[in-house]
Amino acid sequence: MPVTRITRLGAVNAYLVEEEDGLTLVDTMLPRCAGRILKAAADRPIKRIALTHAHGDHIGSLDALAEKLPGVEVLISGRDARLLAKDLTLDPGEERGKLRGGYAGAKTRPTRTFEAGERIGSLEVVAAPGHTPGQVAFLDARDRTLYCGDAYSTVGGVATTAKTYPRFPLPAKATWHHPTALESAQALRALEPARLAPGHGKVVEAPGAAMDAAIARGAA
Ligand SMILES: [Zn+2]
Repeated sequence: MPVTRITRLGAVNAYLVEEEDGLTLVDTMLPRCAGRILKAAADRPIKRIALTHAHGDHIGSLDALAEKLPGVEVLISGRDARLLAKDLTLDPGEERGKLRGGYAGAKTRPTRTFEAGERIGSLEVVAAPGHTPGQVAFLDARDRTLYCGDAYSTVGGVATTAKTYPRFPLPAKATWHHPTALESAQALRALEPARLAPGHGKVVEAPGAAMDAAIARGAA
């Protein structure tokens, strides 16, 4: 499947995934990016918006898009749905970390929440907590493209959020719990993705070795 990446300055991404009935949009970038996203979709209908997590640079244009796309499905994990609604209370056990990064919230409510193991069209929902408590990745079962949210970034090279990466420190600094982020990075690596499509940075083909190196750095 062709990967359609929409980017702002190469640093903040959303993706359009082709399905039989139209498009799935993965994440919505910053505020004021709706026009850019709709332009990339062109005449193909965006049927659903699937969010990897609730940080402001992933949900920023959700309200504007929901307004322009009546009937669009809006999907996020049950856990991060609370963050999307600006409920920043921690669940029992989550006090081991601290919520970091911007939770701007959205007026738009999910039409449905999902859990790991569910399917959204061709995308398998994979748990990827750590960066946020309820972050997920989406694995395209057709070609093993992994839309990994902020579990990995590729600005300045492939990195996890388990440890601050000097060339692009922001994702790790916005991470709730670093050891959990490392576990998720390992779990995603074990999926043997053919292509890594991150929230920040370029798409990386055959990312296995780079993911291994990133995990090793994150664990050091
Ligand atoms: Zn994030």
